[in-house]
Amino acid sequence: MSKIIPIQVSGLSKSSAQTIIANVPSSLIEPSGSLLDTLQRPLHDLRISVTDRCNFRCPYCMPKEIFGKDHHYLGQKELLTFEEISRLTQVFIAHGVKKIRLTGGEPLLRKGIEDLVSMLSNLRSIDQQPLDLTLTTNGSLLGKKAQALKDAGLKRITISLDGMSEKIFRAMNDVDFPLSEVLASIDSALAVGFESVKINMVVKKGVNDQEILPMIRHFKGSGVIPRFIEYMDVGNSNGWRLQEVLSSREVIDLIQTEFPITPIDANYPGEVAQRWKFSDQSGEFGVISSVTNTFCHDCTRARLSMEGKVYLCLFANQGFDLRSLLRSGADNLTLSNVLRSIWSQRTDRYSELRSQIKEDGTQFQKVEMSYIGG
Ligand code: SAM
Ligand code: SF4
Ligand code: SF4
Repeated sequence: MSKIIPIQVSGLSKSSAQTIIANVPSSLIEPSGSLLDTLQRPLHDLRISVTDRCNFRCPYCMPKEIFGKDHHYLGQKELLTFEEISRLTQVFIAHGVKKIRLTGGEPLLRKGIEDLVSMLSNLRSIDQQPLDLTLTTNGSLLGKKAQALKDAGLKRITISLDGMSEKIFRAMNDVDFPLSEVLASIDSALAVGFESVKINMVVKKGVNDQEILPMIRHFKGSGVIPRFIEYMDVGNSNGWRLQEVLSSREVIDLIQTEFPITPIDANYPGEVAQRWKFSDQSGEFGVISSVTNTFCHDCTRARLSMEGKVYLCLFANQGFDLRSLLRSGADNLTLSNVLRSIWSQRTDRYSELRSQIKEDGTQFQKVEMSYIGG
């Protein structure tokens, strides 16, 4: 059996992580509005996970056998309040964050999520522009919430959907949730007028890859943008095997058997999805090649967990605890200097090192996707 050891992808051991927080320079520096890590990557995006709970049990994320009835979730007091999230977000903004994604777990399970959206949508970037505020959801509760989220200032939305056939979709959510309800949620998202509505489909070879073409046929011409995500080795629970990854190249080749398509430019530097458009101008789709064509060199994303830990990589096992600083009375300048210290020492590039790391058969402890958000 291979041994299990904790990995700190950022190259920081637990004690050095604590040291960073403890040894912030006593002369505090005003945030500059831009912050580079050791690989010259700016801090640009913040993903905020608002809950570790979910009503689905997608086997690639929260398999039932591990996230069963007796699984321990965080209590209410352990979660950052909306005021705390908003305050920490302002510290991130001061260092250059312009794009915010709310995620989870299932973010719409967090009570009053529209109030948080409203608080965040009132914040401005360092150059006084509105933030690019978006949210990723499994769509199960969106029918009821779409209008409230739009009214609160949510600009864009991504809905996860792993199949167009009832049988496959129910197997992919593993709680027998009906496809029709998620499709109705997507209609609600279009009806309330979000600037963009995207679909995330995680593709597992031999499990739901037969759903790719039906997905394209269904959404082509609707204004909704499907994105096909390579199945990733996030967390320690999903039993990931490389053989189950269908590469983005294979997805594109498959779509090309039925539709003429051409690649198009990214919307902005560092965009995770590679974009393709239909030659008949009826829309676009994207592929996210997290395994076969990694994009760590452009990764400008920090992640804030529901209990206030900052993670520098989706595959990290070590977060930096800002909640205890916050709750012990730290002022904004102190928090800002802590964040500067954390980001400026960042070295993470797990996906680029994946094959090297896996070669010796060692498994690594990583944070779960449902905890840190996608
Ligand atoms: N519950 C929400 C949802 O499913 O949209 C938000 C959180 S979920 C963790 C965010 C995204 O991560 C989803 O689109 C999901 O499909 C994706 N995801 C989860 N596990 C994954 C894995 N092993 N590989 C690739 N994507 C994954
Ligand atoms: Fe829940 Fe989203 Fe994970 Fe599925 S992918 S189990 S919906 S958090
Ligand atoms: Fe960013 Fe993913 Fe690379 Fe980590 S593995 S640095 S989250 S792109």
